[in-house]
Amino acid sequence: ELLCRIFADVLDLPDVGVDDSFFDLGGHSLLATRLISRIRSAFGRDIGIRAVFESPTVAGLASRVAGAGVARAALVAGERPVRVPLSAAQRRLWFLHELEGPSATYNVPLVLRLEGELDAVALELALGDVVGRHESLRTVFAAVDGVPCQRVVPVADAGVAWEVVEVCGEAAAAAAVDAAAGYAFDLAAQLPLRATLVRVGERSSVLVVLMHHIVSDGWSLAPLADDLSAAYAARVGGGAPDWAPLPVQYADYTVWQARVLGDEGDPASTAARQVAYWRTALAGAPELIELPLDRPRPQTPSYRGGVARFGTGAELHGRLLAVARECGVTPFMVVQTAVAVLLSRMGAGTDVPLGTVVAGRSDEALDDLIGFFVNTLVLRTDVSGDPSVRELLARVRESDLAAYAHQDVPFERLVEIVGPQRSLAHHPLFQVMLVLDNNAEAAFDLPGLDVAFEGADLGVAKFDLTFHLEETPDGLEGEVQYASDLFDEASAHALGERLVRVLEGLLADVDGPVSAVDVLSPGERDRVLEEWAGPAPARRVGDGTPFPELFAARVAAAPSAPALAFEGAELTYGELAARVDAFAGRLASYGVGPETVVAVALPRSVDLVVSLLAVLRAGGAYVPVDPDYPADRVAYMLSDSRPALLVSDSATLPGLGECGMPVVLVDGLADERRPSVAPRVELRADHPAYVIYTSGSTGRPKGVVVPHGGIASLARAQQDAFGVGPGSRVLQFAALSFDAAAWEIVMGLLSGATLVLAPAERLMPGPDLAALCAERAVTHVTLPPTALAVLADDALPTVATVVVAGEACSAELVARWSAGRRMINAYGPTETTVCATMSAPLSGETVPPIGRPIAGTRVYVLDAALRPVAPGVTGELYVTGAGLARGYLGRPSLTAERFVADPFGSAGARMYRTGDLVRWTADGELEYQARADFQVKLRGFRIELGEVESALSAVPG
Ligand code: AMP
Ligand code: MG
Repeated sequence: ELLCRIFADVLDLPDVGVDDSFFDLGGHSLLATRLISRIRSAFGRDIGIRAVFESPTVAGLASRVAGAGVARAALVAGERPVRVPLSAAQRRLWFLHELEGPSATYNVPLVLRLEGELDAVALELALGDVVGRHESLRTVFAAVDGVPCQRVVPVADAGVAWEVVEVCGEAAAAAAVDAAAGYAFDLAAQLPLRATLVRVGERSSVLVVLMHHIVSDGWSLAPLADDLSAAYAARVGGGAPDWAPLPVQYADYTVWQARVLGDEGDPASTAARQVAYWRTALAGAPELIELPLDRPRPQTPSYRGGVARFGTGAELHGRLLAVARECGVTPFMVVQTAVAVLLSRMGAGTDVPLGTVVAGRSDEALDDLIGFFVNTLVLRTDVSGDPSVRELLARVRESDLAAYAHQDVPFERLVEIVGPQRSLAHHPLFQVMLVLDNNAEAAFDLPGLDVAFEGADLGVAKFDLTFHLEETPDGLEGEVQYASDLFDEASAHALGERLVRVLEGLLADVDGPVSAVDVLSPGERDRVLEEWAGPAPARRVGDGTPFPELFAARVAAAPSAPALAFEGAELTYGELAARVDAFAGRLASYGVGPETVVAVALPRSVDLVVSLLAVLRAGGAYVPVDPDYPADRVAYMLSDSRPALLVSDSATLPGLGECGMPVVLVDGLADERRPSVAPRVELRADHPAYVIYTSGSTGRPKGVVVPHGGIASLARAQQDAFGVGPGSRVLQFAALSFDAAAWEIVMGLLSGATLVLAPAERLMPGPDLAALCAERAVTHVTLPPTALAVLADDALPTVATVVVAGEACSAELVARWSAGRRMINAYGPTETTVCATMSAPLSGETVPPIGRPIAGTRVYVLDAALRPVAPGVTGELYVTGAGLARGYLGRPSLTAERFVADPFGSAGARMYRTGDLVRWTADGELEYQARADFQVKLRGFRIELGEVESALSAVPG
């Protein structure tokens, strides 16, 4: 019977039957804690919170009580030490206050609209009465001998700071409220409570009671409401409140708390037991989770913040309650599950620590006290392995119950023990807070006045994100409080909407896998998969045209235009074509045609370009072999690619070692006067054009077989973006063994420009390269950032277009090289024909995006389950389209691993998994983040370390 009454009291119901379940009647985990403390005082027995979940009916719990252990000491007033220390929770706030100085970050504002006949004098006196009643509200915090103490100011000396402000209009009132709420307390010198009465009109005022969190919390508002109401009623009547003094004060709690927790050094103490639990529970938890930040995290947070609102509607809330009941979890646990799933999809991984608060009023005597009792818990949420929703809820329930059972260790102690904070840049142990508000209702009953709660915008954020939800008759109403250092309002707003979508998804099918839940809205899905990904490969005229045809068109258009410059020599398009055709004829006589591979091992020279083009003209695919490579690497490439023929010259050949295949030497090629006998070949878009060996992150180098299909759209993209064409002079910088050289050849020779070729020693980044560009009046260069970095600022006066590629480019380089010229960041793996995306022209000093897909290419940013990620979230980049390579020569299984089915394309379509981590900006541009495998590839351009070093040493400073 007594237990029935306790149930009814805690649940605020008239009566409760023996078979009624606590949770069916609206109980939640915080009320369960209160139930436990009531049972403790009434029966002298301690039942754990798990018992309430396992036996939620009165009858069930009665039997648990009978078998429970004897309760700990009750909280009573008693002896106090001369210097009252701070409670554990207070210590952290005091420490922050010392460290950062007075600020509004930890203000607790109570804002009340008062309509009617207000007696301001009575209100001021009533507030004084409340401060007199609660020692906490007249406590100052100062260090004595370096140890912070609570000093309670005697009632007589405790004047409440009371200010009256007259304003005109609601806007001014709101501003006055925010200003009052933003006051920064000096905890050592001032009482931690002050009040501002904003008079808006004759019968309308706004009262701001501002407290510092060090003496208050959400659950303090109910006792504050009760006491202020009683005191005001008494003062309006000309009297003073006659209330029994509080049985205990905050200082008593402080002493009691220390005793209950015991000495952590004593293994039998509560403190030691609970700490041991947390050590295990938090072992290996991520210190900082990945969030889709709009801006990089500053070294020291400003704690400025904003708020974005969202709501679920009553229907979804109803479904949530039903699922919670069905699965034996609290509404909070459902929301927590949704937040964890959301954050996980937003890049946080599968081990998601969330912060939450518990009331911490673990003894009945604390119910009527104003003070700082809340404790912060870390709820580590494991969303790994794609469980069903039901399974995940069960997981969350298990770990939450365990956490609640060990909720007495102050958070600050946990930080010291398990996560000594190494960085002030982020909150320790968790960065995202979740609160489902179920504070006891604070009811202000002031005679003659209608009282309504209003909000104050403190403009602060204690955490990166706080999801603050409240259950209302209209459904869950929520706020995303966000740190302005990190997030824009729009992003916070989108997160709130995503949370609702995740809830919808989770609740739609409790037995379905969590992976079925979509965080993207249908509109967003369309945007990332259609608009941003690039057009579906609708074929345009000219798409897929093979290289020889594109080149022939340039030759026909301007046969006497300069095509190739090498040192003293210049060849026109007509001359170059004649040589190419002649040599192609010779190659054809060796059987070179579609699907034959021809190795080309030559130093940079006219003959080299002629040879490459002749292989293509004959219909074959070239494998460039760098004669400077070590002999074993050359041998490996030759044996792996099994060329039908090796093209070299007599000076180079001996250095290549045993080749074991027919060799054609190009010596005297220029003097050959053979008629053009190149046969007609029918080349298709899927016939290979070249094979490039990339080092890859693991294992031996592998040959990427690149077909002709992507060359036409690559050339078009270059011409559209770089303004390259007849009259332009394009530098050939990249070593021939990299596909970047193919990019330069395409840019030079398929646009009608001149390709500027030079011996390797003239291309050394630094003064040599600068001199070459000036001498040859180069207009277009493609350089890796490392090469740009070592060029003097004024090194490229003739260069109108700089393309950076091959690796991430810094903001500083953009600032240096974009002024006064076109600068573009191009990105792409060999496996998608050199280039997949490029930026718009860059300017200013910002880390450049890698931009958007080039024509003919589609890109997706996907998570590990191949789902598109939301804008702002890091995912892996996949590329498909015209330029997709066939795969790796002779490596079907490796090919199958990296070239996978495109789930968004037509049947049989493939996409390439780049291993690059990127994210979409809100405008649909890609930002490069990192390599997924964290390995540095040798890529793009061949610069020996020694060359970089000597070039660097040539740069002053
Ligand atoms: P490769 O296949 O040797 O051409 O190397 C391609 C790789 O180089 C890409 O997968 C990226 O990791 C990197 N890369 C190429 N271009 C860029 C760029 N503009 N920004 C950042 N990384 C790049
Ligand atoms: Mg490349």
